[in-house]
Amino acid sequence: MARTAIPYFNFYPSDFMHGVRGMSAQEVGVYTMLLCRIYEQSGPIEYNVIRLSTYCGMREKTFVQVVEKLISLGKITLGNGLISIKILDGWVSKTKREKARPSIPLNIVRNVRSQGHCSYCGKDSGPFEIDHIHPWSKGGSHNRENLTLSCRPCNRKKRDLTLQEWMK
Ligand SMILES: [Zn+2]
Repeated sequence: MARTAIPYFNFYPSDFMHGVRGMSAQEVGVYTMLLCRIYEQSGPIEYNVIRLSTYCGMREKTFVQVVEKLISLGKITLGNGLISIKILDGWVSKTKREKARPSIPLNIVRNVRSQGHCSYCGKDSGPFEIDHIHPWSKGGSHNRENLTLSCRPCNRKKRDLTLQEWMK
Protein backbone atom coordinates (compact mmCIF):
# COMPACT_ATOMS: atom_id res chain seq x y z
CA MET A 1 0.00 0.00 0.00
CA ALA A 2 1.47 3.33 -1.03
CA ARG A 3 1.59 5.85 1.78
CA THR A 4 2.34 9.52 1.92
CA ALA A 5 5.47 9.99 4.00
CA ILE A 6 5.31 12.50 6.83
CA PRO A 7 8.88 13.46 7.70
CA TYR A 8 7.91 15.24 10.91
CA PHE A 9 5.01 15.55 13.26
CA ASN A 10 3.75 18.35 15.42
CA PHE A 11 4.95 18.06 18.98
CA TYR A 12 3.11 20.02 21.62
CA PRO A 13 5.18 19.79 24.82
CA SER A 14 2.36 20.68 27.21
CA ASP A 15 -0.07 18.24 25.57
CA PHE A 16 2.56 15.54 25.58
CA MET A 17 3.45 16.15 29.25
CA HIS A 18 -0.22 16.06 30.13
CA GLY A 19 -0.75 12.88 28.12
CA VAL A 20 2.07 10.98 29.79
CA ARG A 21 1.51 12.24 33.32
CA GLY A 22 1.94 9.45 35.85
CA MET A 23 3.67 7.16 33.39
CA SER A 24 7.13 5.85 34.27
CA ALA A 25 10.13 7.14 32.34
CA GLN A 26 10.43 3.63 30.86
CA GLU A 27 6.86 3.73 29.60
CA VAL A 28 7.30 7.22 28.17
CA GLY A 29 10.51 6.06 26.49
CA VAL A 30 8.90 3.06 24.79
CA TYR A 31 5.85 5.13 23.86
CA THR A 32 8.05 7.77 22.24
CA MET A 33 10.08 5.17 20.33
CA LEU A 34 6.90 3.50 19.06
CA LEU A 35 5.45 6.86 18.02
CA CYS A 36 8.59 7.64 16.07
CA ARG A 37 8.54 4.25 14.32
CA ILE A 38 4.84 4.67 13.50
CA TYR A 39 5.34 8.15 12.08
CA GLU A 40 8.46 7.06 10.24
CA GLN A 41 6.42 4.38 8.49
CA SER A 42 3.35 6.60 8.21
CA GLY A 43 1.31 3.69 9.40
CA PRO A 44 0.87 0.95 11.97
CA ILE A 45 4.01 -1.06 12.69
CA GLU A 46 4.48 -4.79 12.95
CA TYR A 47 4.51 -6.00 16.55
CA ASN A 48 7.87 -7.70 16.25
CA VAL A 49 9.00 -8.13 19.86
CA ILE A 50 12.61 -9.06 19.07
CA ARG A 51 13.16 -6.15 16.73
CA LEU A 52 11.29 -3.53 18.77
CA SER A 53 12.79 -4.52 22.12
CA THR A 54 16.26 -4.30 20.57
CA TYR A 55 15.33 -0.93 19.13
CA CYS A 56 14.30 0.22 22.62
CA GLY A 57 17.37 -1.37 24.23
CA MET A 58 15.28 -3.58 26.54
CA ARG A 59 14.83 -7.20 27.38
CA GLU A 60 11.93 -8.75 25.51
CA LYS A 61 10.03 -9.60 28.67
CA THR A 62 10.23 -6.06 30.00
CA PHE A 63 9.31 -4.64 26.61
CA VAL A 64 6.19 -6.82 26.40
CA GLN A 65 5.15 -5.72 29.90
CA VAL A 66 5.53 -2.05 28.98
CA VAL A 67 3.58 -2.54 25.74
CA GLU A 68 0.76 -4.21 27.68
CA LYS A 69 0.74 -1.28 30.09
CA LEU A 70 0.59 1.22 27.22
CA ILE A 71 -2.33 -0.67 25.71
CA SER A 72 -4.17 -0.71 29.05
CA LEU A 73 -3.56 3.05 29.33
CA GLY A 74 -5.09 3.52 25.88
CA LYS A 75 -1.88 5.03 24.49
CA ILE A 76 -1.45 2.47 21.74
CA THR A 77 -3.60 -0.18 20.12
CA LEU A 78 -2.67 -3.69 19.08
CA GLY A 79 -4.67 -5.57 16.48
CA ASN A 80 -3.83 -8.08 13.73
CA GLY A 81 -0.23 -8.05 14.92
CA LEU A 82 0.09 -4.31 14.33
CA ILE A 83 0.74 -1.49 16.77
CA SER A 84 -1.05 1.76 16.07
CA ILE A 85 -2.27 4.93 17.72
CA LYS A 86 -5.67 6.58 17.53
CA ILE A 87 -4.35 9.88 16.14
CA LEU A 88 -2.76 8.03 13.25
CA ASP A 89 -5.94 6.15 12.37
CA GLY A 90 -7.64 9.53 12.16
CA TRP A 91 -4.82 10.91 10.06
CA VAL A 92 -4.97 8.02 7.60
CA SER A 93 -8.71 8.40 7.03
CA LYS A 94 -8.25 12.16 6.63
CA THR A 95 -5.53 11.63 4.02
CA LYS A 96 -7.71 9.16 2.14
CA ARG A 97 -10.51 11.73 2.07
CA GLU A 98 -8.15 14.47 0.81
CA LYS A 99 -7.04 12.21 -2.02
CA ALA A 100 -10.59 11.31 -2.95
CA ARG A 101 -11.62 14.95 -3.10
CA PRO A 102 -13.45 15.78 -6.36
CA SER A 103 -13.14 19.26 -7.84
CA ILE A 104 -15.77 21.86 -7.07
CA PRO A 105 -18.24 22.27 -9.98
CA LEU A 106 -17.32 25.29 -12.13
CA ASN A 107 -20.70 27.03 -11.81
CA ILE A 108 -20.34 26.94 -8.02
CA VAL A 109 -16.76 28.24 -8.23
CA ARG A 110 -17.99 31.17 -10.37
CA ASN A 111 -20.85 31.83 -8.01
CA VAL A 112 -18.59 31.93 -4.94
CA ARG A 113 -16.01 34.11 -6.72
CA SER A 114 -18.69 36.62 -7.71
CA GLN A 115 -18.95 37.48 -4.02
CA GLY A 116 -15.89 39.66 -4.60
CA HIS A 117 -14.74 40.06 -1.02
CA CYS A 118 -13.33 37.98 1.82
CA SER A 119 -16.05 36.64 4.09
CA TYR A 120 -13.77 36.82 7.10
CA CYS A 121 -12.02 40.20 6.94
CA GLY A 122 -14.09 41.91 4.24
CA LYS A 123 -11.08 42.75 2.05
CA ASP A 124 -12.12 43.22 -1.59
CA SER A 125 -8.77 42.71 -3.30
CA GLY A 126 -7.46 39.23 -4.04
CA PRO A 127 -5.97 36.77 -4.44
CA PHE A 128 -9.01 34.94 -3.19
CA GLU A 129 -9.48 31.29 -2.44
CA ILE A 130 -12.55 29.20 -2.00
CA ASP A 131 -12.94 28.13 1.59
CA HIS A 132 -14.93 25.22 2.95
CA ILE A 133 -16.68 26.76 5.95
CA HIS A 134 -16.87 23.31 7.51
CA PRO A 135 -13.55 21.82 6.37
CA TRP A 136 -13.60 19.14 3.68
CA SER A 137 -11.14 17.10 5.75
CA LYS A 138 -13.68 17.06 8.57
CA GLY A 139 -16.60 15.97 6.47
CA GLY A 140 -17.67 19.33 4.98
CA SER A 141 -19.26 19.22 1.53
CA HIS A 142 -18.82 21.02 -1.80
CA ASN A 143 -22.36 22.40 -1.48
CA ARG A 144 -22.73 26.10 -2.21
CA GLU A 145 -23.85 26.80 1.37
CA ASN A 146 -20.59 25.33 2.71
CA LEU A 147 -18.37 27.39 0.40
CA THR A 148 -17.33 30.97 0.72
CA LEU A 149 -14.73 33.37 -0.58
CA SER A 150 -11.68 34.00 1.56
CA CYS A 151 -8.56 36.05 1.02
CA ARG A 152 -5.38 33.99 1.08
CA PRO A 153 -4.15 35.25 4.49
CA CYS A 154 -7.49 34.42 6.14
CA ASN A 155 -7.63 31.01 4.46
CA ARG A 156 -4.07 30.22 5.58
CA LYS A 157 -4.96 31.18 9.14
CA LYS A 158 -8.21 29.21 9.14
CA ARG A 159 -6.55 26.08 7.67
CA ASP A 160 -8.75 23.09 8.45
CA LEU A 161 -10.34 24.57 11.53
CA THR A 162 -14.10 24.72 11.80
CA LEU A 163 -15.61 28.17 12.13
CA GLN A 164 -16.16 27.59 15.83
CA GLU A 165 -12.59 26.46 16.43
CA TRP A 166 -11.21 29.39 14.45
CA MET A 167 -13.32 31.99 16.28
CA LYS A 168 -12.06 30.84 19.67
ZN1 LIG B 1 -9.65 37.86 4.71
